[in-house]
Amino acid sequence: MEVQQKVDLAPYNTFGVSAKAAHFAYITSAEDLRSGLDYSRQLDLPILVLGKGSNLLFTKDFYGLVLQMDWRGIDWLDALDRVTVACGEDWHDFVIQCMNKGLHGIENLALIPGSVGAAPIQNIGAYGVELSDVVYEVSAMDIRTGEIIKFDYEHCKFSYRNSFFKHKEGKKFIVTSVTLQLSSAWQPNIAYPSLKQALTSTKPSPLQVFDTVCQIRGSKLPDPGKLGNAGSFFKNPVISREKLTTLQLDFPKIPVFDSEINEFVKVPAAWLLEKAGWKGKTRGKAAVSTNHALVLVNLGGASGQDIQLLAQEIRSSVLEQFDIALEPEVQLI
Ligand SMILES: Cc1cc2nc3c(=O)[nH]c(=O)nc-3n(C[C@H](O)[C@H](O)[C@H](O)COP(=O)(O)OP(=O)(O)OC[C@H]3O[C@@H](n4cnc5c(N)ncnc54)[C@H](O)[C@@H]3O)c2cc1C
Repeated sequence: MEVQQKVDLAPYNTFGVSAKAAHFAYITSAEDLRSGLDYSRQLDLPILVLGKGSNLLFTKDFYGLVLQMDWRGIDWLDALDRVTVACGEDWHDFVIQCMNKGLHGIENLALIPGSVGAAPIQNIGAYGVELSDVVYEVSAMDIRTGEIIKFDYEHCKFSYRNSFFKHKEGKKFIVTSVTLQLSSAWQPNIAYPSLKQALTSTKPSPLQVFDTVCQIRGSKLPDPGKLGNAGSFFKNPVISREKLTTLQLDFPKIPVFDSEINEFVKVPAAWLLEKAGWKGKTRGKAAVSTNHALVLVNLGGASGQDIQLLAQEIRSSVLEQFDIALEPEVQLI
């Protein structure tokens, strides 16, 4: 494992913002990862585990060691419809490989940017499916000992855009691989309204679901290759039914959907931002997408701080108008 110094992180994040990593290394194996951890301990450096940088915003230089997870490999356990995939594999490419193998369950998660290792961190989800629906176990290295430990489904503590790995204890682990329980029997999951509406058949094939998801995403979300962004910037807030009743007095058409707890509902953050007039607004080179109010974009040359300031302004205005505190889905570094 070779450690580089003063590396510009612009090519390593989908916002395309510049920030310097004082130390940077590609990780392609358990041995590399242990060497990286030793290096950080010897120099007393903080570490940042980096996948494809599609869910974070660099707001300043990072003086520690960036470990860019480039560890590849897929192990198909055909007899069990199970597959173990290394953390550095590209998520969307992996979805395609599963489909080509006749293993189903993740077609709805097509075209989500990022690495496999980051997928369990925020329990990626889209179009009615979450990663947690198919996780069998997650393997992760304990940064204190270098030991790789297997976490079964229960121990991952998945919930909406959340998992054990996002919290204090979980941050002591680096995901090395994910094992999914897929199915060779095709059972489409097409209840999600916009997906159902866009599909031409009520009994679609896996490829039809995959293609439709890709089409919807392509029409709504800016391509990070062309316009820097990290997808949805804020999580959908969860509010009590009591608070909803109060809000409905002023906003009778406020859309809501069920949350994991019966007494609470989720409000689409995109609706709040649109209602507050943020869609298409710009602040210098930082802007809110004209297509999707929840997506903040780098028009070219914005700094991480420019985007952070825009996010803060949006948060204050939503708090003022709806008394709802938005939480970022994107990690601020
Ligand atoms: C256009 C666009 C659309 C998107 N759509 C969706 C969507 O529909 N649904 C959704 O859920 N997300 C979506 N996202 C967010 C993003 O794609 C996911 O969160 C993805 O899983 C991030 O992967 P990454 O490799 O880029 O992670 P990074 O951004 O590199 O890292 C994200 C976080 O995970 C940590 N991390 C990364 N790898 C590991 C590891 N191996 N072990 C421990 N920690 C790790 C990092 O330290 C960081 O805190 C979208 C993003 C974009 C740009």
